[in-house]
Amino acid sequence: MPDHFQPRAFCHCTTCKKLSGGVGTANGRLRSDEVTILEGEELLRTYQPEEGTAKTFCSACGSNLFGGGWPESENASIRLSAIDDPLPSAPAKHIYTRSVASWETLPDDGLERVDGSG
Ligand SMILES: [Zn+2]
Repeated sequence: MPDHFQPRAFCHCTTCKKLSGGVGTANGRLRSDEVTILEGEELLRTYQPEEGTAKTFCSACGSNLFGGGWPESENASIRLSAIDDPLPSAPAKHIYTRSVASWETLPDDGLERVDGSG
Protein backbone atom coordinates (compact mmCIF):
# COMPACT_ATOMS: atom_id res chain seq x y z
CA MET A 1 0.00 0.00 0.00
CA PRO A 2 1.50 3.39 -0.96
CA ASP A 3 2.41 5.70 1.96
CA HIS A 4 -0.02 8.37 0.77
CA PHE A 5 -3.00 6.02 0.89
CA GLN A 6 -5.61 7.36 3.31
CA PRO A 7 -9.07 6.14 4.26
CA ARG A 8 -11.47 8.69 2.78
CA ALA A 9 -15.21 8.10 3.10
CA PHE A 10 -18.04 5.79 3.99
CA CYS A 11 -20.32 5.49 0.94
CA HIS A 12 -24.03 5.02 1.60
CA CYS A 13 -25.15 4.94 -2.05
CA THR A 14 -27.76 2.37 -3.06
CA THR A 15 -25.28 0.32 -5.11
CA CYS A 16 -22.80 0.10 -2.21
CA LYS A 17 -25.62 -1.11 0.04
CA LYS A 18 -26.55 -3.85 -2.44
CA LEU A 19 -23.01 -5.09 -2.92
CA SER A 20 -22.01 -4.86 0.76
CA GLY A 21 -25.13 -6.46 2.13
CA GLY A 22 -25.29 -3.64 4.67
CA VAL A 23 -25.15 0.12 5.01
CA GLY A 24 -22.48 0.69 2.34
CA THR A 25 -18.74 0.63 1.81
CA ALA A 26 -15.65 2.22 3.40
CA ASN A 27 -13.13 3.57 0.91
CA GLY A 28 -9.79 5.14 0.25
CA ARG A 29 -8.57 6.47 -3.08
CA LEU A 30 -5.61 5.81 -5.32
CA ARG A 31 -4.85 6.54 -8.94
CA SER A 32 -5.95 3.47 -10.89
CA ASP A 33 -2.43 3.06 -12.27
CA GLU A 34 -1.13 2.74 -8.68
CA VAL A 35 -3.11 -0.48 -8.23
CA THR A 36 -1.19 -3.67 -8.99
CA ILE A 37 -2.93 -7.04 -8.78
CA LEU A 38 -0.36 -9.52 -7.47
CA GLU A 39 -2.41 -12.68 -7.94
CA GLY A 40 -5.89 -13.89 -8.79
CA GLU A 41 -6.53 -11.30 -11.50
CA GLU A 42 -8.51 -13.91 -13.46
CA LEU A 43 -11.00 -14.09 -10.58
CA LEU A 44 -11.92 -10.38 -10.73
CA ARG A 45 -15.32 -9.44 -12.12
CA THR A 46 -16.58 -5.92 -12.78
CA TYR A 47 -20.17 -4.81 -12.49
CA GLN A 48 -21.34 -1.62 -14.17
CA PRO A 49 -24.56 -0.38 -12.52
CA GLU A 50 -27.02 1.71 -14.56
CA GLU A 51 -26.06 4.71 -12.44
CA GLY A 52 -22.66 5.35 -10.95
CA THR A 53 -19.25 3.86 -11.53
CA ALA A 54 -18.09 0.29 -12.14
CA LYS A 55 -17.46 -1.93 -9.11
CA THR A 56 -15.01 -4.86 -9.04
CA PHE A 57 -15.24 -7.93 -6.84
CA CYS A 58 -13.67 -11.38 -6.42
CA SER A 59 -15.70 -14.10 -8.13
CA ALA A 60 -14.30 -16.75 -5.73
CA CYS A 61 -15.12 -15.19 -2.34
CA GLY A 62 -17.43 -12.31 -3.29
CA SER A 63 -15.27 -9.66 -1.62
CA ASN A 64 -15.82 -6.18 -3.00
CA LEU A 65 -12.43 -4.72 -3.92
CA PHE A 66 -12.63 -1.60 -6.07
CA GLY A 67 -15.08 1.05 -7.13
CA GLY A 68 -14.97 4.36 -8.86
CA GLY A 69 -14.58 2.80 -12.28
CA TRP A 70 -11.27 0.98 -11.76
CA PRO A 71 -9.30 0.11 -13.88
CA GLU A 72 -10.41 2.52 -16.65
CA SER A 73 -10.98 5.58 -14.46
CA GLU A 74 -8.22 8.00 -13.41
CA ASN A 75 -8.90 7.31 -9.70
CA ALA A 76 -10.11 4.16 -8.01
CA SER A 77 -11.99 3.65 -4.77
CA ILE A 78 -10.21 1.01 -2.70
CA ARG A 79 -12.50 -0.87 -0.30
CA LEU A 80 -10.95 -0.70 3.16
CA SER A 81 -12.44 -4.11 3.92
CA ALA A 82 -10.09 -5.57 1.30
CA ILE A 83 -6.98 -4.38 3.17
CA ASP A 84 -5.68 -6.63 5.91
CA ASP A 85 -2.94 -4.27 7.16
CA PRO A 86 -3.67 -1.64 9.85
CA LEU A 87 -4.51 1.76 8.37
CA PRO A 88 -3.26 5.15 9.67
CA SER A 89 -6.72 6.64 10.17
CA ALA A 90 -10.44 6.18 9.62
CA PRO A 91 -12.63 7.69 6.89
CA ALA A 92 -13.32 11.42 7.37
CA LYS A 93 -16.87 11.65 6.01
CA HIS A 94 -20.08 9.93 5.01
CA ILE A 95 -21.07 10.41 1.36
CA TYR A 96 -24.36 9.81 -0.50
CA THR A 97 -26.26 10.35 2.73
CA ARG A 98 -29.30 11.18 0.54
CA SER A 99 -29.49 7.40 -0.03
CA VAL A 100 -29.59 6.43 3.66
CA ALA A 101 -32.17 3.63 3.94
CA SER A 102 -35.28 3.69 6.12
CA TRP A 103 -33.72 0.86 8.18
CA GLU A 104 -30.29 2.50 8.40
CA THR A 105 -28.91 4.66 11.23
CA LEU A 106 -25.98 6.99 10.59
CA PRO A 107 -23.54 6.82 13.51
CA ASP A 108 -23.22 9.85 15.76
CA ASP A 109 -19.49 10.09 14.99
CA GLY A 110 -19.14 13.80 14.24
CA LEU A 111 -17.88 13.13 10.71
CA GLU A 112 -18.81 15.37 7.78
CA ARG A 113 -21.94 14.23 5.91
CA VAL A 114 -22.31 14.88 2.21
CA ASP A 115 -25.52 14.42 0.19
CA GLY A 116 -23.73 13.24 -2.94
CA SER A 117 -20.27 12.17 -3.99
CA GLY A 118 -18.42 14.67 -1.80
ZN1 LIG B 1 -21.29 3.93 -3.15
